[in-house]
Amino acid sequence: PELPVGAIVAGAAARWGDRVAYLHHDRQLTFAEVYRAACRFANALRAHDIGPGDTVAIHAPNCLAYPVAYYGILLAGATFTPANPLLPPADLAAQLADSGAVAAVSFGRAAQALAAVREHTQVRLVVVTGGEPGPGQLEFEEFSAGQPETRPDVRIDVRTRLAHLAYTGGTTGRSKGVELPHRNVVVNSLQYGCWGSGSVPAPDADGNLTLDQVGGEAEWPARLGTGVGINLTPWFHAMGTIGGLNVPMLSGGTIALQDGFDPVRYLADGERLRITQIGGAPALFAALLACPDFRTRDLSSVRALSSGAAPMPHEMIRALARRFPDAVINEGYGLTEVTMGATSGPGFRSGVRKQGTVGVPVFDTEVKIVPAEGGEDPLPTGEQGEVCIRGPQVMIGYHNRPEETAAVLVDGWLHTGDIGVLDKEGYLSIVDRKKDMLLYKGYNVYPRELEELLMSQPGVRSAAVVGRRRTDVGELPVAFVVRGDDAVTEESLMAAVNENVLPYKRLRELYFVDEIPVSAAGKVLKRELRKQLD
Ligand code: ATP
Repeated sequence: PELPVGAIVAGAAARWGDRVAYLHHDRQLTFAEVYRAACRFANALRAHDIGPGDTVAIHAPNCLAYPVAYYGILLAGATFTPANPLLPPADLAAQLADSGAVAAVSFGRAAQALAAVREHTQVRLVVVTGGEPGPGQLEFEEFSAGQPETRPDVRIDVRTRLAHLAYTGGTTGRSKGVELPHRNVVVNSLQYGCWGSGSVPAPDADGNLTLDQVGGEAEWPARLGTGVGINLTPWFHAMGTIGGLNVPMLSGGTIALQDGFDPVRYLADGERLRITQIGGAPALFAALLACPDFRTRDLSSVRALSSGAAPMPHEMIRALARRFPDAVINEGYGLTEVTMGATSGPGFRSGVRKQGTVGVPVFDTEVKIVPAEGGEDPLPTGEQGEVCIRGPQVMIGYHNRPEETAAVLVDGWLHTGDIGVLDKEGYLSIVDRKKDMLLYKGYNVYPRELEELLMSQPGVRSAAVVGRRRTDVGELPVAFVVRGDDAVTEESLMAAVNENVLPYKRLRELYFVDEIPVSAAGKVLKRELRKQLD
């Protein structure tokens, strides 16, 4: 569609008007209020001569000002670049300088960190919310006070003008800027908005859902939920900006915000607000499953659970299916380079949802599997290899990195660096990340297989496997395990895994730890674990 992202918030204001879009403590914003405030913010940016061709950063946690600033930046025709407010100063300076941002919206104490590095960036305007502005900084409300509440008249080419300059999670290495025009953001929001998990009937005993059960393909959009969810996914991450901001705007869903994550509070609010869905990374579901309140709180309003950003362990899916027998559990797959996502759980093409896969490609999206060693020709169905994606949500390229772009984009196909497999009905399963694969005496060992086995053992809360490098044989699998039961021993777990895998995949060491480090987006930080082996 030839629509700019600003059309999403303008449309939401017209369609959903006085319905509550965001809740935070005792404050709330309706869809119409978000749009009006975003227009004021956009006009204030224009008054500072910021518009098409300029980049504006939001350096904040999820807060009520975030959507106002986000849509305001886009309505002004400028490019939005998100920055994690907890980035260490050197990383913040490097990211802002790389993005070329000329202005930034910052939050509370994070604004001080920004002030400290500003001279190393092109940022000339800082607007602060959630705290006192420092010297030379402007207060968020005052910045746009008195500005018109009409949409600025800016024309943009939705195919080339960047809406997002998003930075990859940096889980495996240096974070890279990803160029995403307006079309990508609108298309990917629609791809997920139309596949959203609204009110859906119960799956069958195997956890599958057929097309007939949802009333046929034509009925689906009409059933899109006007749901309520608590959003914990950071809006500075792809899953947050698309799944947490734009998809609810399209569907009229209400988003409640919380400061930080506390499972007890999450569950209490979930019961009070009668949430209809739980969405987030598997780390969120792991924390909820480990919380005793999860079993006792009334969560009968929940109709859908959606996960993404990292693999959902099979044992977790089973535990969630037991807790929510009538809800749909939906896993999507994506990466910053495809705006947010490429596949989604309920598989309408064949009409069957298959638990444990990441579903089928969303509309207008192709997936192929090529040899992990290189090459463009697709492998036969059922063979493992690198996942490649082609579709309108695929990035233009990495910002200022032509060589890295050429290495991953070939004839419109994005090489994801993930190993996966397609079945004969087109369902994708993610095996592991290519970069996390271990090489032992020339054999490929995928840590995820060992992690799944560990997590299927009673008393294991979570597990991660990395390689210990040995010059003679390659990498030896080493496990880090968080246990929920002290009776579980190292020997019993090693035996349980090693009896079930080929000899070259056997675990060599196992350590119990209090927690496994995860990124802000909920991904296991394997490089941190590898450091512990040094
Ligand atoms: P960097 O590329 O800088 O290391 P990153 O990989 O953390 O950062 P993101 O774009 O946030 O950057 O993450 C995308 C990756 O997350 C995918 O390539 C894939 O490995 C993983 N991922 C996302 N969804 C799933 C899923 N459902 N199952 C398995 N892995 C997933």
